Amino acid sequence: MMKKISLVVPCYNEEAVIKLFYAEIQKIEKNFTDVEFEIIFINDGSRDKTLELMRELSKNDDVRYVSFSRNFGKEAAMYAGLEASSGDYVAIMDADLQDPPALLKEMYEILESGEYDSVATRRVTRKGEPVIRSFFARLYYKIINKISKTEIVDGARDFRLMTRQMVNAVLEVKEYNRFSKGIFSWVGFRTKWLEYENIERAAGETKWSFWKLFLYSLDSIVAFSTVPLSIASVMGILFCFVAFLMIIFVIVRTLIYGDPTSGWPSMVCIMFFIGGVQLLCIGIIGQYLSKAYLEVKRRPIYIVAETEESKIRAKNDDEVI
Ligand code: UDP
Ligand code: MG
Repeated sequence: MMKKISLVVPCYNEEAVIKLFYAEIQKIEKNFTDVEFEIIFINDGSRDKTLELMRELSKNDDVRYVSFSRNFGKEAAMYAGLEASSGDYVAIMDADLQDPPALLKEMYEILESGEYDSVATRRVTRKGEPVIRSFFARLYYKIINKISKTEIVDGARDFRLMTRQMVNAVLEVKEYNRFSKGIFSWVGFRTKWLEYENIERAAGETKWSFWKLFLYSLDSIVAFSTVPLSIASVMGILFCFVAFLMIIFVIVRTLIYGDPTSGWPSMVCIMFFIGGVQLLCIGIIGQYLSKAYLEVKRRPIYIVAETEESKIRAKNDDEVI
């Protein structure tokens, strides 16, 4: 029976690469027999000609697109793409060809064998990346895997091929603050990891600054661990213990030496220290509160402005008039 593979491609200002991407996919489609492809481009509020190029590409039968009303972020774009997909297998791929389309064949064969539900990729080197970025990335993976029960694989990319069953499971996770690397692992199923060397972008620029990545990493910690919330309790217990020892020390010293008025510089230091710790703990609670606040509002994950279907409908309406 003919199988269908959907490729979900989030695009934000990708006018430089989107056609290259499609050309590459057309090349590898030839290696498949009895497989139909469906490419779903998600325009995540691009400010360049990305949408125009998508409209043009959607004249091909295998291309569809969903265009957002503004930039909602790659996480939202991936969710929209999975929702729109209809294939038996669904892959998520970057538009910049950093996810080698040539791997799709191998991934497909692994899923077809029936032993796995998902084939994911991770890059083993961080070549071509600034040293500081690699350092913090490594540190981040160490921390999050210590404090989260969900495994977050170091170097994991979003590039993966999944069965329909797993896609539906991911779609069931409707949280607003999405962190897909965690969600894919959280839903379970059997995942096979393929490794490859880092590949540089075909053209255009990365959308991730160091600062954006840093905030994203904090969000992911809030999304997949509640350990920071217990920092306040642990610190509280520790400080009570230290305070208890200090009280005994002060009482004994006063009994032996009397009560000379000194030591307020050290007291000011202690006050600053404890004040700092308290603010830090309130800040952490605030992070969780703000995420909870955004979740209870139940805002949609993305808003669609246009799809290739709405385009076709609009055109037909014009003809009727
Ligand atoms: N992307 C997106 N919305 C955003 C930022 C990025 O859809 O707000 C897309 C982008 O077009 C690309 C993919 O996510 O297809 C990965 O982005 P990028 O290549 O800039 O990240 P990097 O590979 O440098 O981590
Ligand atoms: Mg990239």
